[in-house]
Amino acid sequence: MVILICDAFDASLPQRLAPFGEVTDDLSRLGDAHVALIRSKTRATAEWLAQAPNLKLIIRGGVGLDNVDRAAAQARGIEVRNTPRASSVAVAELAMAMMLAIPNRLIEAHTSMKEGKWLKKDLKRTELFGKTLGLIGVGLIGSEVAKRAAAFGMTVIAYDPFVPQHPVATMKPLDEVLATSDYLSLHTPLTDETRGMINAASIAKMKKGVIIINTGRGKVVVEEDLAAALASGQVAAYGTDVWYSDPPDPSCPLLTAPNVLMAPHIGASSRENLLRIGDEVVAILKEFKI
Ligand code: NAD
Repeated sequence: MVILICDAFDASLPQRLAPFGEVTDDLSRLGDAHVALIRSKTRATAEWLAQAPNLKLIIRGGVGLDNVDRAAAQARGIEVRNTPRASSVAVAELAMAMMLAIPNRLIEAHTSMKEGKWLKKDLKRTELFGKTLGLIGVGLIGSEVAKRAAAFGMTVIAYDPFVPQHPVATMKPLDEVLATSDYLSLHTPLTDETRGMINAASIAKMKKGVIIINTGRGKVVVEEDLAAALASGQVAAYGTDVWYSDPPDPSCPLLTAPNVLMAPHIGASSRENLLRIGDEVVAILKEFKI
């Protein structure tokens, strides 16, 4: 069995997979591969699958399967698996890190000191305590954020059409979540319903000065609409790990909009998560028979 590691996994993975067959990261071996390990970088399109005549299994290390053409894979009898549980804590901690960095003005504090400035009087902070966090999507990651936000003394509400009740978040209709949240954190997959759901119309329903955190998917927001809302102050700040493309096109309006805290899609990239993903990959290969 030839196992092709296409994207970045923990450095220990090749050794851990060696008992299952030949392990390679030589992408020119796609044609020989029986198993392909991908994360978010590789796009497993129909054209990509056509170059892999021996492929029987794709393992997507991580959650979202929006980079895999599952219909094309199914038509070829290729099984597609992911590692949905591994990444929840890693992504939730990044969402919390952004939610803490923005009101505590950590980036301005750090960069101004690097520039030799002492902005003690200018850098006014605000607290998470007592604020309302609205979660859009309260699955595995949203639930980890809910627990952490509650521990900070936030009121946690959520909109999720598939979750009627939640142990931490109070479920509300979307418009109520939009209208009452001081912070909004986006944790949905990218679907026909969620694509572009944060747009001029939904932003107009939000509290003025809302802070939006996006560790879900870039295309859940309409970038132009959000950039305009940041410029007007309707949205006070946007913390994002996710983009229309990895990396974003230089013309992406959010790269130059005010009050944007940016990360290069590192939500799943904690050392611990890469090890957990490795554990799940090994477990999948143990049960998979070619
Ligand atoms: P999950 O499936 O456990 O939860 C997603 C939730 O979104 C579900 O409860 C679902 O009911 C809800 N949902 C679906 N459609 C919705 C809609 N229209 N409105 C509101 N809620 C809706 O998945 P998860 O593990 O929590 O991951 C969520 C997303 O986070 C993934 O799909 C992926 O896009 C993203 N993600 C990002 C990173 C990163 O590196 N930043 C890493 C992992 C996952």
